[in-house]
Amino acid sequence: SPSANIIDGEAIAQEIKLEIAEVVEKMRSAIGKVPGLAVVLVGSRRDSETYVRRKQRACEKVGFNSYGVSLPETATEEEVLEAVRKFNADPNVHGVLVQLPLPRHICEEKVVGAVSIQKDVDGFHPMNVGRLAMQGRAPLFVSCTPKGCIELLLRSGVQIEGKHAVVIGRSNVVGMPAALLLQRQNATVTVVHSHTPNLAEVTRNSDIVIAAAGVPFMVQGSWLKPGAVVIDVGINYIEDPDSENGYRVVGDVYYAEACQVASLITPVPGGVGPMTIAMLLSNTLDSAKLAFGFVEN
Ligand code: NDP
Repeated sequence: SPSANIIDGEAIAQEIKLEIAEVVEKMRSAIGKVPGLAVVLVGSRRDSETYVRRKQRACEKVGFNSYGVSLPETATEEEVLEAVRKFNADPNVHGVLVQLPLPRHICEEKVVGAVSIQKDVDGFHPMNVGRLAMQGRAPLFVSCTPKGCIELLLRSGVQIEGKHAVVIGRSNVVGMPAALLLQRQNATVTVVHSHTPNLAEVTRNSDIVIAAAGVPFMVQGSWLKPGAVVIDVGINYIEDPDSENGYRVVGDVYYAEACQVASLITPVPGGVGPMTIAMLLSNTLDSAKLAFGFVEN
């Protein structure tokens, strides 16, 4: 039976990080400066702490400076805004990100809107999102997970122009920007969500499927057009008595079935996941290049 080729996100992310590290070395020797990323963490959610640690370690690996402030769960909104403003003003910092979610007493919209758009390497500022949505405008930064999805397609040689793509999910961080990016690549895009009645049918008509619903095993083999390209963004923890910690991670795609129908597919883990941090580093490098007026030759 036919079997899809696998898009190795781990390998592609590694390749991108090596490319970034080379540019950083050139910067260091040419001007004695390197990019800097600052992360604001509020509270002590275990998952958020893990993500922040991973981002900081990734920075160090490619030669960036990494800055961070960790505020208690009880921090006031003003204290969080103050931390953001401090990094906005710091010339050694080229990317400022606030780890989400924030504690409930702090207004996410206000805090995300306070990040300088020139340092908004998460691409969450409404000015960057708005520009992404507009013809003839360009955002300074695009959010990392959807950018990683497109990068996987491009680096795998997938033709996007003229294809019909479906994006399952319409969140601010993944689905919506993924759909806008696909349109910018001249795909015809359908966005489906929890109120869409005929998900399977829409998906079956699509050449490219980006699944970002957060529902394990949702996209079955029978939902796919033969030869479709499938990008699985989902990260879902399901019980697995056979595994050491009692659970395992699966995507939104029923992988074993989808492999029999798709031509190209991302695994979970090891697909989109590693690309998110690679794109964060790439955005931060772009920001530093602009700030330094650094042009590679
Ligand atoms: P959200 O919960 O914010 O959004 C989920 C979207 O999927 C919503 O638009 C929702 O519709 C839609 N949806 C939910 N259930 C269904 C369903 N049964 N049928 C059709 N549509 C559905 O999630 P995120 O966008 O933040 O994340 C999506 C997935 O991607 C998650 O598994 C998350 O863990 C993962 N993720 C992975 C990242 C990475 O790889 N680095 C980064 C970020 C997320 P509606 O709008 O109607 O509610």
